[in-house]
Amino acid sequence: MIEKIDHIGVAVQSIDKALGLFRDVLELELGGTEEVATQKVQVAFLKVGETRLELLEPTQEDSNVGKYLASKGEGIHHVALKVDNIEAALAQLKAQGVRLINEQPVPGAHGARVAFLHPKGTYGMLLELVEKK
Ligand code: ZN
Repeated sequence: MIEKIDHIGVAVQSIDKALGLFRDVLELELGGTEEVATQKVQVAFLKVGETRLELLEPTQEDSNVGKYLASKGEGIHHVALKVDNIEAALAQLKAQGVRLINEQPVPGAHGARVAFLHPKGTYGMLLELVEKK
């Protein structure tokens, strides 16, 4: 079902400021930035070999990432797993009793379709499933 880790999401107060480390000091290649309106975030992807870091800056304080920053501060927010067929993966997980945040895929960055699993059922780790076109 899972192909690989697609990316690791990192919640930051400011993408511009965080690029000072990730792009300028660690010399990771910036793959682009994009606003994901459904999640109320601005995202920036940095390539790390086969996988990527996804910097997440909230565009609104009441977004999930905005609330996360307010309660936990900056840091690793989620791990995204690439799947071939997100509907099939969600159906399989649901049938096995895994708690889902999104029962249906929602639009993610770069035209991908994504769905989050509830961290209460995944040992405290927010997992995102990603299906790319
Ligand atoms: Zn993500």
